Amino acid sequence: MKIGAVRGMRDILPEETPLWQKLEAEIRAAFALYGYREIRTPLVEEAGLFARGVGQATDLVHKEMYVFPDKKGLTLALRPEATASVVRAYIEHGLYAKGGVAKLYYFGPMFRYEKPQKGRSRQFHQYGVEALGSLDPALDAEVIDLAGYLMERLGLPREGLFLRINSIGCKEDRARYREALRDFFTPRAEELCADCRRRLSENPLRILDCKRGGCQPAIRAAPKSTDFLCAECRAHFQEVLAHLDRLGTPYELDHTLVRGLDYYTRTVFELASRDLGAQDALLGGGRYDDLAELLGGPPTPGVGFAGGMERLVLVLRDRAELELAGKLDVYVIPIGEEQEVKRAAVWAASQLRRAGLAVDVEYLGRSVRKATQVASRVARHALFLGPDELAQGVAKLKDLSSGEERPLKLENLGAAFQQKVRARG
Ligand SMILES: [Zn+2]
Ligand SMILES: [Zn+2]
Repeated sequence: MKIGAVRGMRDILPEETPLWQKLEAEIRAAFALYGYREIRTPLVEEAGLFARGVGQATDLVHKEMYVFPDKKGLTLALRPEATASVVRAYIEHGLYAKGGVAKLYYFGPMFRYEKPQKGRSRQFHQYGVEALGSLDPALDAEVIDLAGYLMERLGLPREGLFLRINSIGCKEDRARYREALRDFFTPRAEELCADCRRRLSENPLRILDCKRGGCQPAIRAAPKSTDFLCAECRAHFQEVLAHLDRLGTPYELDHTLVRGLDYYTRTVFELASRDLGAQDALLGGGRYDDLAELLGGPPTPGVGFAGGMERLVLVLRDRAELELAGKLDVYVIPIGEEQEVKRAAVWAASQLRRAGLAVDVEYLGRSVRKATQVASRVARHALFLGPDELAQGVAKLKDLSSGEERPLKLENLGAAFQQKVRARG
């Protein structure tokens, strides 16, 4: 019986990986310019990390997390997101003891048991940053600025980007806001979907996340979180917005934006592309000032964002700016059946690679004509090696775009190739 990939788990094939690599390189470069360094955390964590950090009642933990016992009965989870892991590592390794702001970035697969659909799989990939250790609203603005810069760098014009922002306040503000939402939605429970009626008792903030059409009129009329901010949180938010104004970053206040995870405090934001419709964000993030303490660490404010690689790949696949070359330098074609020739061909490829050239060899024994056609598709040069050439200590190099042919000495082959090709200019 044929075994296929698990539902919702997708192979990323060689046609696509050059784009992934290019995107990853650009993202790393952008993060480095803002002072971030990479952290790599395990894919597997104790399930309790996410129950405590992200929130037991969130869909992410409650419905979508892959949870399984290990052989000792410990309850483990495939990470559904990375912020909780990064903060766990930050606490575990005492990164706070170094003082200053810890600026960390990550890449990697996350796992959520969701309904697979276009652009959404159960194993998906995120990139993200976390800045830990400062309450300064300037840092919120810098993180948002990084998000915008990243998208510009990837070729999405600034005018096409759409920043939605809100503040949900500190723990105390949120408690008051939650009560206000409960008071508001309880008499309207009949208008809400079944999920939202459950959220009404568990966490009415989550109702604002609901995408169902029937719930929207009630959501639009609901109280705004910004009306429940304490003086400090209000000042913080005003200062974040003032920074954005100074940076020339347009934004839209969105009072329904609360983000799906429990750890968020104060600033929350999403960056979307106008072309794609604002409901599908490219990335999202915010502050999480209580998370470190919630995970047993010293109180440490933090702010960050995460975005999906699959989404970027969909958006950028057709953009000319990311046009990728990816051709081999040389395709080596042995002529005839002689093992001596074949061995020389393999040896020649090995020499050329050591000179820094990307090389492949004709391994299928196709006719010279056929193999040359293949070479034209995948490489810039073909190198022919037959018994006659071998006897003279040379190979025949063909430039596949001009058709020009020249002999190439086998002695010091790598250097000889570099010299010939460079000499031509
Ligand atoms: Zn507050
Ligand atoms: Zn609903």
